[in-house]
Amino acid sequence: MWSNWAGNETAQITPARPVSVAALQQAVAAPQSMRAVGAGHSFTPVVSGADRIIDLSDLDVPTVLQVDGDKAWVNANARLRDLSPALSNHGVAFRNLGDINTQSLAGAVSTATHGTGRELPCLAAEITAARFVAANGDMLSTDDIPLEMAQVTLGLLGVLTEAQINVVPKYNLHRRVRLSALQDSLDTMHDNWVGNRNFEFFYIPFTGKAVEIRHELTDAPETKAPRDLDMIAVKVLKLARNAGHLSAGLRRGLLHLLTLAQSDENYVGESWQVLCSDRRIRFKEMEYHLPPETAGDVLKEIILRLERDHRDIYFPIEVRQTAGDNAALSPFQGGPRISIAIHSDADEDHERYFNAIEPLFVEAGGRPHWGKMHGLAYKELSGLYPDFDRFCALQEELDPTGKFLSPAMARLFRP
Ligand SMILES: Cc1cc2nc3c(=O)[nH]c(=O)nc-3n(C[C@H](O)[C@H](O)[C@H](O)COP(=O)(O)OP(=O)(O)OC[C@H]3O[C@@H](n4cnc5c(N)ncnc54)[C@H](O)[C@@H]3O)c2cc1C
Repeated sequence: MWSNWAGNETAQITPARPVSVAALQQAVAAPQSMRAVGAGHSFTPVVSGADRIIDLSDLDVPTVLQVDGDKAWVNANARLRDLSPALSNHGVAFRNLGDINTQSLAGAVSTATHGTGRELPCLAAEITAARFVAANGDMLSTDDIPLEMAQVTLGLLGVLTEAQINVVPKYNLHRRVRLSALQDSLDTMHDNWVGNRNFEFFYIPFTGKAVEIRHELTDAPETKAPRDLDMIAVKVLKLARNAGHLSAGLRRGLLHLLTLAQSDENYVGESWQVLCSDRRIRFKEMEYHLPPETAGDVLKEIILRLERDHRDIYFPIEVRQTAGDNAALSPFQGGPRISIAIHSDADEDHERYFNAIEPLFVEAGGRPHWGKMHGLAYKELSGLYPDFDRFCALQEELDPTGKFLSPAMARLFRP
């Protein structure tokens, strides 16, 4: 049985694993419906629901094919955690990355995976050309279709094999992490995005405190990174939540201790090692990308409702900003967006919390992360993207039998 990372999406299918592009072309050309899988790190039904799943991990494409100045051709199905050191060997790096690097590049770009930074676009916007296997098994490229259609696709136009990406000379980042009062983080967040290359913060529920994370470019050499204590912190948050069933005071006490124990971080490392970490505690997530001017009020309302109505939730709320781009299905199309992410324990019910918060995101003009839970369908989504119907028309033209259109995809991309 196939399962995604969070365990909330499953399929009674053993994924096929073609080892060559020719074998992939043959597999895609078969008439049964199919979905491609990267690392299975999406929370939404973007992989399950078709007759077949095709896993691209074994394709015999070199991790890095060619580096030429500020562009590199790479294996689109390589994991980001393998691409970064391989690019580093060529003296270059991704301009930005998200919280983790377990995803495949194709999986990450197909859902518009992002990091944080007011001037830094999502990964998909760094794709400058791509080659892919179309529904009939033919090889196509961005010479055949507009680039902005091919950057974010949820696998609906074909199966990516190779991608050309923007790269920058490899660089070190100076990471600084500190605890702040939530009100301070809210008051200064816009300035912080202007003043820092990467800035984000996590609100720790029921504490009034946020953890702020900043990264700046530096020529300084690497220093020793502290032990990653995120897992312990989340465990203490859960322990405090459980203790709260006995006494609200006990929960407050434990959370107070946690904030006292939160130690500042201050070190230098190579970009991809500083930007990405492991997430060993499984969760479910909803993230919306909001017009920047609405995000502060939405965040305040979420916190109010969380602390009033959802005392079982213990995961922090993450707040990031991403630069705008031109990709037809990018949630950042047309201008920068502030992303707010809410989480629940992978083994616990998320629906009451997520259903209560989602209308706040929608009313504020938010666009959902394609790989994270949301309840929108074609009717709402087509109104959020100016080029949505153009994308749907191209999808129908390239995939006339609806091979990539599982029921969950049809709900999003067909009236
Ligand atoms: C712990 C964790 C941390 C995360 N952190 C972040 C973060 O910091 N920022 C963020 O934006 N998101 C984040 N995400 C979400 C994640 O980046 C996205 O859901 C991403 O799409 C997952 O990549 P994947 O390789 O697992 O792709 P999958 O989930 O396997 O697939 C995603 C989509 O890509 C398609 N696809 C895969 N391969 C191909 C291919 N070769 N050709 C065409 N289509 C293909 C699939 O069909 C599917 O539609 C996180 C998720 C988890 C579980």
